[in-house]
Amino acid sequence: MAPPARETRAHAPRAQQRRGEGQWALGYREPLNPNERSKKDDHPLNVRARIENIYAPQGFDAIDPGDLRGRFRWYGLYTQRKPGIDGGRTATLDPEELDDEYFMLRVRIDGGALTTEQLSLIGEISNTYARDTADVTDRQNIQYHWIRIEDMPEIWEKLEGAGLTTMTACGDSPRVILGSPLAGIAADEVIDGTPAIDEIKRRYLGKPEYANLPRKFKTAISGLPDVAHEVHDVAFVGVRHPDHGPGFDLQVGGGLSTNPMLAQRLGAWVPLAEVPEVWAAVISVFRDYGYRRLRSRARLKFLVKDWGAEKFRQVLEEEYLGRPLVDGPAPEVPERQHDHVGVHRQKDGRFSVGVAPVAGRVTGSTLVALAKAAERAGSSRVRLTPLQKILILDVPESELAGLRAELDDLGLPSDVSPWRRGVMACTGIEFCKLAIVETKARARDLVSELERRLADVQSEVDNPVTVHLNGCPNSCARIQTADIGLKGQIVTDADGNQVEGFQVHLGGGLGLDAGFGRKLRGHKVIGDELVDYVERVVRAYLAQREEGERFPQ
Ligand code: SF4
Repeated sequence: MAPPARETRAHAPRAQQRRGEGQWALGYREPLNPNERSKKDDHPLNVRARIENIYAPQGFDAIDPGDLRGRFRWYGLYTQRKPGIDGGRTATLDPEELDDEYFMLRVRIDGGALTTEQLSLIGEISNTYARDTADVTDRQNIQYHWIRIEDMPEIWEKLEGAGLTTMTACGDSPRVILGSPLAGIAADEVIDGTPAIDEIKRRYLGKPEYANLPRKFKTAISGLPDVAHEVHDVAFVGVRHPDHGPGFDLQVGGGLSTNPMLAQRLGAWVPLAEVPEVWAAVISVFRDYGYRRLRSRARLKFLVKDWGAEKFRQVLEEEYLGRPLVDGPAPEVPERQHDHVGVHRQKDGRFSVGVAPVAGRVTGSTLVALAKAAERAGSSRVRLTPLQKILILDVPESELAGLRAELDDLGLPSDVSPWRRGVMACTGIEFCKLAIVETKARARDLVSELERRLADVQSEVDNPVTVHLNGCPNSCARIQTADIGLKGQIVTDADGNQVEGFQVHLGGGLGLDAGFGRKLRGHKVIGDELVDYVERVVRAYLAQREEGERFPQ
């Protein structure tokens, strides 16, 4: 059962406390910044009715600025960056100068799970309303661009008719839930988390009491270690309990961006049936005790860091669950995160076929064609992955060759270079208003150049070297967890010009040696020299590594 929403707590702010953090549970109910004010003035979920009844019929100019740059996000909508504004001006312009009248629209796909029919529909919507754009994000979403506000009612009608939604795809709310792309079919999975993901959506998605959080809330639930669980606000990681069998290890407080932190284990084991209740309790702790004064401290990781795991578990159990959790063991940690690219046997004897669109970029037309190819091969299920890849499930062995040939023709081969597998990129300056540099086109050029230049050493690369590109200091592409993480910024070239470039982070990773890449002081590379730089680093690593040694941390 869901824990009750707490309006106010017993403890009033103490007089001697110099400055509160805006925690509701300590009595700070008055908004302490404009974002909190906006959410209090009108619950962001209410904006849907205004979009349908006012903004779509009347057009972009009718939109209230508070909705446009605030509440729209609760339905997956952000304004795009106006074309032609260079990254050096991002921080100097007012928001309205950066706003285009077109939108980015994020469709949440929990667990990355789609039927081929849903994938076809997503592609058709892209064709009709989004100029054929469709990016697979590293949170298993699909992101469209060039959306007009006038078209939103029709888009929702089509998506929702197929069981899809944009509800709380963005905003200070529970975002899409990451799940293993091979949930239920992997031979080495501890437990299938899909029923818990479905139940959380059914019980809590779109409920106002869980949709006004201090900031975003990211969840991962997986019986396989393939969802970057270490960097989530809450993660349920498959583990076998010696007495109770398969269930989940509960972890909280991970996150990237500035001040990256790895999630902490609470030492608790949660059975599958109790995951939704425990999830609701964790999100309620965040809602009530999370810091709401400063946006920069409003993620759960700061509360967990200040409290520590022991106190967090105590509050969770005593104030929200009303019972103790079962102690549990730590999950096994893999050496690397799986990317599932290529052909893999499922436990039922059929196969999954994973392809790697470069940095997640595809088109709506390609998605429609991919769905049809999958159906011709006898499949009705596809999965998007947290590494911007696409999998086709349930392919009989007899259909593999035909399907792979069709995927080759679509530009989505299932046998790809390690560079294509290892590169991820965020949206970047093409569409993102916060961006400082270009990312997607750079990722494409980087992959094709590395394939050409490093062909002589490709066979020596047993694990893809991961290269993640961000367009700004936020970490949408998880740069701190890559072998080579690249944070976009303006840098000075040899002639003293201010140009697009990257701060380099080296040696990050998830899995056995989970840790954040080191930011090397003064280690910056200009955009035009990025390929040379990555080539040098990879060659040096291959030349100097010991047998079996992964990228150095
Ligand atoms: Fe935009 Fe920055 Fe996120 Fe890239 S990392 S999508 S530029 S906010």
